[in-house]
Amino acid sequence: MSNLARKALSFPSIAEVIRRLDPSYPVFCIFPEILQNRAREFVSGFPGTTLYAVKCNPHAIVLKALNEGGVEHFDTASVPEIAKVVEQLPEAHCYFNHPVKGRGALESAADVYGITHYVVDHIDELNKVIGIAGTDITIEVRISTPKGSAIYDLSSKFGTTPENAVSLLKEAHARGCRTAIAFHVGSQCTDPDAFRVAMEMASGVARHADVPIDYMDVGGGFPAAYKYAVPPLQDYFDVIKATKERLKLTMPLYAEPGRALVAEGCSVITQVHLRKGDDLYINDGIYGCLSEIRDCDLDPPVRAIADDRVLSGNMKPYRIFGPTCDSLDTLRPLFSLPEDISEGDWIEFGMMGAYSIGMQTGFNGFVTDTIVRVDGLHEEFPF
Ligand SMILES: *Cc1c(COP(=O)(O)O)cnc(C)c1O
Repeated sequence: MSNLARKALSFPSIAEVIRRLDPSYPVFCIFPEILQNRAREFVSGFPGTTLYAVKCNPHAIVLKALNEGGVEHFDTASVPEIAKVVEQLPEAHCYFNHPVKGRGALESAADVYGITHYVVDHIDELNKVIGIAGTDITIEVRISTPKGSAIYDLSSKFGTTPENAVSLLKEAHARGCRTAIAFHVGSQCTDPDAFRVAMEMASGVARHADVPIDYMDVGGGFPAAYKYAVPPLQDYFDVIKATKERLKLTMPLYAEPGRALVAEGCSVITQVHLRKGDDLYINDGIYGCLSEIRDCDLDPPVRAIADDRVLSGNMKPYRIFGPTCDSLDTLRPLFSLPEDISEGDWIEFGMMGAYSIGMQTGFNGFVTDTIVRVDGLHEEFPF
């Protein structure tokens, strides 16, 4: 096990974290066993190769746990992400899947880390990549797909039209590169059919390009089950498999899940520092680990803990404010918590593994930098 993963404080339960640390600071809790189980489920269910999208949560313990659950390929978007994976897992395969790469980053990726897979969505980027990494590489051409039912659009910034994709594939092939097709239907995509639509587009591109396609990368977007119901992962796998068969696609499939692998495997323990009526002021917020609660309508489960017991009893809605001086630092939904919650009690936010510790800003000096592992399953999940 790596140094970082070994050195992290380890606890048998959330109750024990609170009992032993009595934290007045926020604590990010990682459950390696839950992460391993999610990885196993995805790797064995997806009809192809699973890459973990590192940006979703790059912590060493998370990478290690997913790897132990069977993930050996990693979707990386920067040299620091590649370095993190390689340092932790020397045998892992990294793919440089950012469609816009700096020349310096490309040089490090190619020369230091020996990366051989690169995403492009423009002819100038193709020329840049080939100029630096040579042609003994795989060029994945990313197409943009309809946003559909996803919470985040990942096609308005990156991805090209089917027409351009055809000419990029032909050009990459003519220059001597191996070729592949990629797309991303958008994050937290709640409709499995979005994958059918995107795969049909990608298949049309492959047919028109008429070059060997090494694989089709269906991207991420597989949802996590926050408080609202989402289709089970198996529904997505079934649609993808059925579409592959119906379109008679012979190339292997890749997927790049982030959220679906890690959301469930982490939680954040925050503390109430002041209660003013029905307003609670806590020590993590939108500039820390809880940014997604403002940016989209994610409504993670919460529970209140006092000393060493879970608070229950009559519940009522509260507004929750984060620690920075900015009025924007407010969680959008109202949270249902016990009516006797008070200063010094803790609020645990569940399902916080995705887009949380990786998106902290440090604004105003508030950072959630106490990270612990909790070995075993969550004592009370879902709460
Ligand atoms: C963010 C991202 C992912 C992961 O998306 P999730 O919605 O978390 O599954 C995968 N691939 C690419 C290219 C991304 O940018």
